[in-house]
Amino acid sequence: MLWARELIARRAPVRVRHVVAPRDELTERAKAAYFGLAIGDALGATVEFLTPNEIRHQIGVHREIIGGGWLRLKAGQVTDDTTMSLALGEAILAHGSVDAKSAAEAFDAWMKAKPVDIGNTVRRNLVLFRKTGIPEATFSEHDAGNGAAMRVLPVALACYGQPEKDVVFSNQAQAHVTHNNTISDAACETLIFMVHDLFAGRDLAEIRQQRADALVSRFPVFAFNKKRIENPSGYVVETIQAVFQAFFSTETFEDCLLDVVNRGGDADTTGAIAGMLAGARYGLEAIPKRWLSAIDGKTLGQCSAQATGLLALAGCAT
Ligand code: MN
Ligand code: MN
Repeated sequence: MLWARELIARRAPVRVRHVVAPRDELTERAKAAYFGLAIGDALGATVEFLTPNEIRHQIGVHREIIGGGWLRLKAGQVTDDTTMSLALGEAILAHGSVDAKSAAEAFDAWMKAKPVDIGNTVRRNLVLFRKTGIPEATFSEHDAGNGAAMRVLPVALACYGQPEKDVVFSNQAQAHVTHNNTISDAACETLIFMVHDLFAGRDLAEIRQQRADALVSRFPVFAFNKKRIENPSGYVVETIQAVFQAFFSTETFEDCLLDVVNRGGDADTTGAIAGMLAGARYGLEAIPKRWLSAIDGKTLGQCSAQATGLLALAGCAT
């Protein structure tokens, strides 16, 4: 299946850039995306809620995984962005597909285990799920935080190669547990399709046009070519704007993450999302060894196992 799809995806005018075993490369990119998520989360958490000026005064350029921050993390410790993704990935693997009830139960168990941080919308709607048993939050114009977008990677992995409408359906199953919101959905879907395109080795200019610019066409609020976003809030629009500015203006994994986390604000979440995209784009070899070795070993093991397990679920076993 993968071979056929890659051939279709790479048909002219897309240039075939490398002739290597696609499945091995896919697994490597999947692991890199998951490691990137964890690295961006751990790196950004140190400066979460600081302004760029505060970062400059306190640290200079923030470039090492040192823990601390308002959560007083150990160096290499990750936050909700990574642990909710892992909880969702476990639920998808256990159920065999993305399922709203399984996801809600996994998130609820995650919340019971007292995570180091938790978003307000996530908490409110999980408390409601606990009361009602309904794994879908009520539609809300206000629930446009980045809490669903930060945890899309396991869906992207489990749905790799599926028709777009099925991917959209699967994402909504997980996202609506806490964020039932049109803007959040659009952001989640765009991120998932970008991860798929990056896995397939598609041309970056095309990805920008067909995914990022297309998102802006549908929802102009996401326009990211105007002013530089600094101190991005937890509003998913600002998150995506900061991530896209960093992702499309840099040429290495490291530069992308340094760019985005030094903007401060919700830096662990912009870091996690940018790290996911950059991992998928640049692959394992491009991840600085000092960052990889700084991340808690158990977390890395879970990321790696889920990357292969979820791809296998998608029919892309190595
Ligand atoms: Mn977090
Ligand atoms: Mn955050």
